[in-house]
Amino acid sequence: MDMTLSKGAIRVYETLERAGFRADVVGGSVRDFLLGLSPNDFDMTTSATPDEMLSVLSEFRLIQTGVKHGTVTVIADGESIEVTTYRTDGGYLDHRHPDKVTFTKELKDDLARRDFTVNAMCYHPVYGFTDAFGGREDLKNRVIRCVGEPALRFSEDALRILRALRFASALGFSVEEKTAKAIHKLYPLLRDVSAERVYAEWRKLLSGQNAVAVLSEFSDVTAFLFPGAEFSLPTAFASNDFRLCTLQLLWQDPNRAAHFEEMAKRLKTEKSFLDYGVSILSQQNAERNLRRGEYLRLCHTLGVENTKDFLFLCDLSDGENRTEIFEKIIAENPVTKISDLRLNGNDLQKAGYKGVAIGRLLEGALYAVMDGKVENEKSSLLEYIQSI
Ligand code: ATP
Ligand code: MG
Repeated sequence: MDMTLSKGAIRVYETLERAGFRADVVGGSVRDFLLGLSPNDFDMTTSATPDEMLSVLSEFRLIQTGVKHGTVTVIADGESIEVTTYRTDGGYLDHRHPDKVTFTKELKDDLARRDFTVNAMCYHPVYGFTDAFGGREDLKNRVIRCVGEPALRFSEDALRILRALRFASALGFSVEEKTAKAIHKLYPLLRDVSAERVYAEWRKLLSGQNAVAVLSEFSDVTAFLFPGAEFSLPTAFASNDFRLCTLQLLWQDPNRAAHFEEMAKRLKTEKSFLDYGVSILSQQNAERNLRRGEYLRLCHTLGVENTKDFLFLCDLSDGENRTEIFEKIIAENPVTKISDLRLNGNDLQKAGYKGVAIGRLLEGALYAVMDGKVENEKSSLLEYIQSI
């Protein structure tokens, strides 16, 4: 069976081979190809040293940020391809970064330093697949298994713990027994992994097809990542949007907004996610029967999309149909913003109002319109404002 490489990967492969080096595609692209998925991107592994790569690949645009660890990013045919010299990783004092990497001439040594058997295969257009650790067998049986001794591999680099869960979730695989046992024992090492890396894996884990099963098997890891929060695992996530899934997990927590905020700050998430979660989780009227005006007020506070997510979470907990009702209300283009009013600040100035009062009066008028007490017509609005 031949694997199809991208145009850019073929050019990089040919350039290195013409100069007498060996170059294979490796890791995720090989795994995905063997699973019948289309690879996201192509990483390569080569016998050329970093200096040799820089000189042989000089016809391409090269990004050298990883060169100390043997990685050169090659821009070829608009793709960015990470090419790494065969290497073994030295000690890992901080459970995250190898203290030193050693370049080697042996392809097998390079495959041995990789995290999981399914990620430790490479492919060469002439020599075919190299699978030194039973990766194909594990793909067939749909298991994530460490290359080598799991406890050692997780102690070297604790991020691998989350990568294991992430791949199990995304691919719908199970975690092999010894690998799982080591995770249950060593997850406290995640303390040493940077917030950004944890967050990146968390997002991918939650978006995966098997997220609920993985979170339930490894609830100890989840609890460690989000101390204090009370999780409620659904039987299934209703969406593959990791933001909504995170809220769904916290929905039954009595202190959900505070726990969410603390977690988002610790993981250094984007501000947009922090604001999204806090604003939705802070709405206290979850259990109420909403009337039309209240739907509109929610929409005014949260915006259309966040209101949908909020109502969706409310519906999940009690089986009501608020989301549908809201969709119908919104389809009629109702007034939910001050700018929707047929009266503006200039009109109020002309009528003799001044300064901050104007904003407050318009807001009052907006609520009156949303509650159905006043028509959205200039004269009715002015009359209403003059009456208060
Ligand atoms: P994705 O589809 O997410 O890109 P991937 O397998 O390509 O999956 P990358 O993070 O791009 O994952 O890493 C590329 C390859 O490098 C992996 O397949 C694996 O062989 C190796 N690798 C990445 N991170 C680690 C790690 N922390 N420890 C050991 N090997 C790793
Ligand atoms: Mg990759």
